[in-house]
Amino acid sequence: MHQPIAKTIHQLFVTLHQNPELSNQEFNTTKILKTYLEKANIKILELGAKTGVIAEIGTGSPILALRADIDALPIHEQTNCDYRSQNKNVMHACGHDVHASILMGAAYLLKEHEKDLIGTIRLLFQPAEENFSGALQFIKIGALKGVDAILGLHNNPNLTINQMASRAGPFSANVDRIEITITGVGAHAARPESGIDPIVIGAQIVNAIQTISSRSVSGLDAVIVSITKFEGGNTWNVIPEKVEMEGTVRTLTPQIRAKVKQQLRSIIEHIAIAMGAKAELKWFEGPPSIINIEKWVELAKNIARQEGYEVIDFQPQLGGEDFAHYLHHVPGAFINLGSQSPYALHHPKFQINPDMIIPAANYLAKLAKQALIQIDQS
Ligand SMILES: [Zn+2]
Ligand SMILES: [Zn+2]
Repeated sequence: MHQPIAKTIHQLFVTLHQNPELSNQEFNTTKILKTYLEKANIKILELGAKTGVIAEIGTGSPILALRADIDALPIHEQTNCDYRSQNKNVMHACGHDVHASILMGAAYLLKEHEKDLIGTIRLLFQPAEENFSGALQFIKIGALKGVDAILGLHNNPNLTINQMASRAGPFSANVDRIEITITGVGAHAARPESGIDPIVIGAQIVNAIQTISSRSVSGLDAVIVSITKFEGGNTWNVIPEKVEMEGTVRTLTPQIRAKVKQQLRSIIEHIAIAMGAKAELKWFEGPPSIINIEKWVELAKNIARQEGYEVIDFQPQLGGEDFAHYLHHVPGAFINLGSQSPYALHHPKFQINPDMIIPAANYLAKLAKQALIQIDQS
């Protein structure tokens, strides 16, 4: 990448980092991104996105989509860097500013050789990843129309800036939220026999559902069931009528997701019935797991090696990523590039090493070009 582009992209990163916006409120971010696209004469598609922007380089088919997320988090930044967030209690603590800058860098490079492209690169600067609504919004307005394959990336603070990681198959988790309500009968705390105590029943349920991962599925299948909220009662001498719980279920495959859901419901309902109470489980489906397609992972790894990255085999994670929604419509892959932050994603001191940006943009541009050729030949 020559100097002027590198400088422009670094400036974009600094501007985005200083001006973070929450999910679905990325109005200024969208304006900034559009300005940078217009500066390079890159065609913006008017598909009616409220926030976020979709653009294209090249013409005709095949079409490869590249996706970067652009939203930030409700966190007060606690780094000492001189381009700290200027928006109180909002911070790019997941590095989506970096993802957008990398995609813009790749776009600038691809635009320079637009005539050599076989087909079209569609750029998806997607809003609202953190609340898992952005990918679905983009799909709804037609972001994937005509798309043959899609690639996306996330920075990984645990890797050094010259490391790339991915894997075929499951990459992130099915992320589901649960609410459990247990309704018993309130009573005087000294006369429990005249009521049905939902706290005792709730405690048994919390313990019993931990057997799902150890007794109901193979030890080789990842399952996490976490109860993260347990609420009931308001004083010391009254047995309450109700207990409300919340939590999350994480799994890697659709089969295990369905099995855990069924087993969870069975345990909750049957324990409640056995104790004379009523239980209700509400299951809120979040993003599915990313299931990477092998040939796209292999291509991404090969190009990474050519670009001097050390390629690492990735262990699946039980976090969520709404890129998974795209992969339900078109094949593709999601990868990680090292960002070498001393603090984790979503930490107020999370700080990416910005030296990762330009090499990553170079890599993504090269990968996109090769991906178009691969689609064209298949
Ligand atoms: Zn995040
Ligand atoms: Zn993220």
